[in-house]
Amino acid sequence: MATPIPSLNQLVSQATGLFKQMFGDEAPKIAACAPGRVNLIGEHTDYNDGYVLPMALPLVTVVAGSASPGREASIITASEHADEPRRIDLRLPNEGFSPSAGLPKEGLPLAPGLPYWANYVRGVIHHYRAHPLPGFRAVVVSSVPLGAGLSSSASLEVALYTFLQQLKPDDGDKISKAVACQQAEQTHAGVPCGIMDQLVSVLGLEGHALLIDCRPLESIPVPLTDPGLVFLITNSNVKHSLASSKYALRREQCENAAAILGKASLRDATMKELEASRDHLGDVAYRRARHVIGEISRTVRAAEYLKQGAYQEFGKVMVESHNSLRDLYEVSCKDLDDLVEAAMEVEGVFGSRMTGGGFGGCTITLLKWQVIDRTIQHVQERYGGSATFYVATPSGGARALQLS
Ligand code: ADP
Ligand code: MG
Repeated sequence: MATPIPSLNQLVSQATGLFKQMFGDEAPKIAACAPGRVNLIGEHTDYNDGYVLPMALPLVTVVAGSASPGREASIITASEHADEPRRIDLRLPNEGFSPSAGLPKEGLPLAPGLPYWANYVRGVIHHYRAHPLPGFRAVVVSSVPLGAGLSSSASLEVALYTFLQQLKPDDGDKISKAVACQQAEQTHAGVPCGIMDQLVSVLGLEGHALLIDCRPLESIPVPLTDPGLVFLITNSNVKHSLASSKYALRREQCENAAAILGKASLRDATMKELEASRDHLGDVAYRRARHVIGEISRTVRAAEYLKQGAYQEFGKVMVESHNSLRDLYEVSCKDLDDLVEAAMEVEGVFGSRMTGGGFGGCTITLLKWQVIDRTIQHVQERYGGSATFYVATPSGGARALQLS
C-alpha cells in the first residue's frame, strides 16, 4: 500500500500543539505551508539553464508561530531526523541590513554553523527581502521525508519565507522569492543547487506539472487530469553520503564542458557541436554534456507528450532519461536501477526513472491506476521489502494559512 499522507489540517494541529507546549499556552497566530516536489523529467538540467518538468506534492512543510517583542527569533523543528538541538535562538538583523554585504562572519547570528538544519533557517532570514523583521517564535512540522530527494529542504525554505511574509511583507515577487530561497541553500547549507526545487515549491499548481525554462525562469502549466493515470513515487530509503560533493562535481564538469564548447551554458550547445568537439572534451566531459543536451530535448518532448495524452511515448523518454543518468551522468545507483527495472516488468506501467539528484532517494513511475496495487506489490517483492510509496497528486504551491 502507498504511504498515507497526513492532511494539512493534521499538520497544522500538530504545529499548534507543539507551539503551545514549547512557548506557553497561547496558540500561534500565523502559519504558512510549502510543498515538496517530484521531478517527472529534466534531471540535472536546471543549473545548465535547461528545462525541468516537476510537480508540487501534497507532502508539505508548515511553519506556524507569532510575532514576539524584541529582536530575537526562536525556531523549533518537530522533525526527529533533523540534527540536535531542535531549537535555535537567533538575533535578527537590524534596519539597513542587506544580504548583498556578503556571508556573515563566524560567530555572528546568521553565520552558517550547527545544528546543520538551522542553516536553512539562517539562510532564509539572511536572504529575506524586507528587513528588519520583528521578533518571532515559530515551529516547523513537515510530512516531506528528509533527504529522500523530494525536496524537504526547499519546502522548509519556502514555507519559512512565506511565514516571514506574513510578519513583514516583501514586494510579493514570486520569482525573487524562489531565488532568495535558492541563495539560502547555496550560501548557508553549502549546496550549489539549481532553481527547480524552490521555483516549483513557490509556483506549484493543483492538477498540473510545470514545464520550467530555467533560463528566463518562465513556467508553463501542463495539466495532469487523466483519472486513469497515476505517478507513483518509490522511495528506495537509501542515501549515499557523498551525494552532495558529487552533485557539486557534476555541476563543475558541466561548466567546464560548456567553456570548452565556447558556450555560456550547455543549454546553448547542440548534439552536432558536441560530436564535433568530442576529442577536445575528453570522455567524462563528453558524457556529462551528452546527458544534459539529450535531457533538455527529452524534457521539452515529454511535456508535449503529456499534453497529447501520448503516455507510451512519455514512458519511453522516462526510461531513456534514467539510462542516460545511469550511464552518461553516472548519478544513479543499484537500488534505483533495481526499482526502475522492477517497475518496468509490470504490465500497465508506461515508464520509470530515478528522480532528484541521485545516489539514492526516489524513482518516479507512470502507470495506469488499475495496476497500482500490483505494481507496489511487485516492486516491493523484487526490491526486498524496504521501499516506501507515495501517490504523487499534483498539488498547489506555497501559501499563507488561516488559523481559526
Ligand atoms: P531533500 O531536500 O531531498 O529532502 P536535502 O539534503 O536537500 O534533501 O535536505 C535535507 C535537509 O534539510 C535535512 O537534513 C535538514 O537539515 C533540512 N530539513 C528539511 N526539512 C526539515 C525540517 N522539517 N526540520 C528540520 N530540518 C529540515
Ligand atoms: Mg534538497
